[in-house]
Amino acid sequence: MNTYHCSCLCKAISFSVSLKNLSIEVCHCSMCRKMMGSSGFLGMECVGGITLTENAALHIYHSSDSGQRGFCQCCGTSLFYYFVPENKFFIPAGVIDDLPEEKVSMTAEIYYDNKPCYYEYVGETKKFTEADFQ
Ligand SMILES: [Zn+2]
Ligand SMILES: [Zn+2]
Repeated sequence: MNTYHCSCLCKAISFSVSLKNLSIEVCHCSMCRKMMGSSGFLGMECVGGITLTENAALHIYHSSDSGQRGFCQCCGTSLFYYFVPENKFFIPAGVIDDLPEEKVSMTAEIYYDNKPCYYEYVGETKKFTEADFQ
């Protein structure tokens, strides 16, 4: 299991994680797009928790009964999504400092029916709609 180092833009927060694999699963839901301020959450699944080395500015926002979102109160970087029912952390690919990007692939897109029409990712992905999670 490879361990990767993560940090926010201002470096007030840093942590390490073990990733399940080098696959990205994008979530297009409106909460993820709002939190990221961008085109969805490019999530990478962690094995186990996150090991904080600097956490002075960490804030955790409870966005729903099943989800908690960590971000930096100094610079605003979104750092993780914690899925409560399965006790799993997902990290946005952009916060990982030492990710071997040539080995990473985008494999799935969830809440694809919530994706606005003004963007589209290239490449083959498995696509899931909101109905797949009900
Ligand atoms: Zn920060
Ligand atoms: Zn989402």
